[in-house]
Amino acid sequence: MDGIDRRDWRQAAFRGFLGRCPRCAAAPLFAGGLRVQPHCPACGQDWSHQRADDFPSYIVILVLGHVLVPLMVAANMAWDWPMGLQMVAWPVLAALLAVALIRPTKGAVIGAQWAMRMGGFGTA
Ligand SMILES: [Zn+2]
Repeated sequence: MDGIDRRDWRQAAFRGFLGRCPRCAAAPLFAGGLRVQPHCPACGQDWSHQRADDFPSYIVILVLGHVLVPLMVAANMAWDWPMGLQMVAWPVLAALLAVALIRPTKGAVIGAQWAMRMGGFGTA
């Protein structure tokens, strides 16, 4: 062994996706909204090193684009929806899904950063 504890990035990302501490899963990762706890109240892990920045947004946009565009094409091929309905329904659906996905995605990114020792997560 090299003395460095192993961190499973899949487990850490999944715990973060669920909004739990990627290290111990015993406490919430978020303090409210998209604000990350400064420290885990259960294990004391310092989360101030997280640098998710815009990456969760990029992931959400990429995923939603690949889900919604084929859905829009399929819906238009199957039904004759009025354009006014579509001009309201698709953006509202996209916004709702983006809001629903951004926090789990940010948690997963932070979990992966921690597990891969990126930024300030390199030691301790
Ligand atoms: Zn913890």
